[in-house]
Amino acid sequence: MGQYLSGLRNKYDVESQKNGECHICKKQIEIEELVMCVRCNIKIHSLCEDALRDGRGYCKCPNCNRVGSLGIKIVA
Ligand SMILES: [Zn+2]
Ligand SMILES: [Zn+2]
Repeated sequence: MGQYLSGLRNKYDVESQKNGECHICKKQIEIEELVMCVRCNIKIHSLCEDALRDGRGYCKCPNCNRVGSLGIKIVA
């Protein structure tokens, strides 16, 4: 189980080095602050998601406009 999880983590890390850019601010995203859309797979910072949400009770993807599709893919 632990091995399986760390395998996933390593795979993600390789991928994130190629394409770990925030959809909103275009800066590099560290894994601790990553939020992803399950629909279109964009990556954004959890802080950028906070700003986007702007106090509303739900979040909406800035790319596909789906409500509630944003989530943290990997919990560190
Ligand atoms: Zn950002
Ligand atoms: Zn989306």
